[in-house]
Amino acid sequence: MSYTSRVSELEQLLRSRGYRLTNQRRVIVGELEGARHLSAEELHDRLKGEHPELGLSTVYRTLDLLHDLGIVRKEDFGEGYFRYELTTERIHHHARCRECGGVIEFNEELMEYLALQVERETGFVTEWHEITLHGRCAACSAS
Ligand SMILES: [Zn+2]
Ligand SMILES: [Zn+2]
Repeated sequence: MSYTSRVSELEQLLRSRGYRLTNQRRVIVGELEGARHLSAEELHDRLKGEHPELGLSTVYRTLDLLHDLGIVRKEDFGEGYFRYELTTERIHHHARCRECGGVIEFNEELMEYLALQVERETGFVTEWHEITLHGRCAACSAS
């Protein structure tokens, strides 16, 4: 999907909930399109040069709003803060390297299979799932 159509989709969604697509919201979503798994501080660092008016607390507030509206996903990689990515990204899971902090994405077929097995065995009804593998990436474990 092109950037413009995503922005206008976003604009419609916000408007339908009584919000405007402010420049701040547009800028934050645009940045998340380019780089996934950013923390609020990383977003702020990337944006403050061009958008000095955008304070860290605004970034947090905007991310909370976008999360409430289902536009961004919050991810917890056990670092004590969240990372964010757009919900328009295909669902996937993460493996995070504890040495370099690199995040590898993998698709969810294996996870779906696992969830199905658990459901069959226990009758549990899965609504969503999220898995993060913790360890070291290929480069770090080779050195
Ligand atoms: Zn690594
Ligand atoms: Zn991801």
